Amino acid sequence: MRTPLIAGNWKMHKTLAEARELVVGIRGGLTNVNGVEVLICPPVQLLFPMAKAVAGTKIMLGAQNAHEATHGAFTGEVSVPMLKDTGCTHVIIGHSERRQIYKEEGPLLAKKVRAVVGGGLTVIYCLGETLDERESGRNQAVVERQLAEAITADVPADRLIIAYEPVWAIGTGRTAAPKQAQEVHFLIRTRLAGVYGRPMADSIRILYGGSVKPDNAAALLSQPDIDGALVGGACLVSGDFLAIISAAPASVAER
Ligand code: PEP
Repeated sequence: MRTPLIAGNWKMHKTLAEARELVVGIRGGLTNVNGVEVLICPPVQLLFPMAKAVAGTKIMLGAQNAHEATHGAFTGEVSVPMLKDTGCTHVIIGHSERRQIYKEEGPLLAKKVRAVVGGGLTVIYCLGETLDERESGRNQAVVERQLAEAITADVPADRLIIAYEPVWAIGTGRTAAPKQAQEVHFLIRTRLAGVYGRPMADSIRILYGGSVKPDNAAALLSQPDIDGALVGGACLVSGDFLAIISAAPASVAER
């Protein structure tokens, strides 16, 4: 049973006033939404006030990154116990912007994944190929490698969510065709079955991310192995985020 999850990655957007306005908009549109989980991942300075803003609603709170250590002399960093203090339940690890801009690679990401789950939170582990890797036919090998680098059986399956985000589709307006995305999601689930066994692999949610918008969400979310979306640009406008949430088939829970 996999309940669809629609997660919004706010990246480095929103002041406090803007964030409050956005959450009020999302909250207002969720009253009749059932069978779908909703997560927002604001920048770190907004976590405490957003925890208050979503209290008593079905919106969950996540962070966009975490340091692998619990504490120490790491200027500018934030640890998992600190995130947990804010009310966070999820942490995104391995987003392509962290991989590409901040050069975060497999061994470090493997530590971060373990820090998140070891701290009692759920990790959303992102992976995906670049355009060059896809065009040269290496996309499957890249996804398999990124998965194997960080996910082994010591990562509890019930604290793990995977996000397949082809780098060429992030923030570009170019989306993977639903069948193209499904193919990779199926591959990921097959590899997860190799790690955890089939029943557990069938319980792990695999989100798609990459220019998900109100007009393409339904087609993507209706694919059998697409269990939700990690949304960037479109999560910054409450109407668009709500439209994507409404496109999630609650019946995915019965897959
Ligand atoms: C993302 O940053 O995870 C993302 C998918 O962004 P966008 O939806 O803007 O492509």
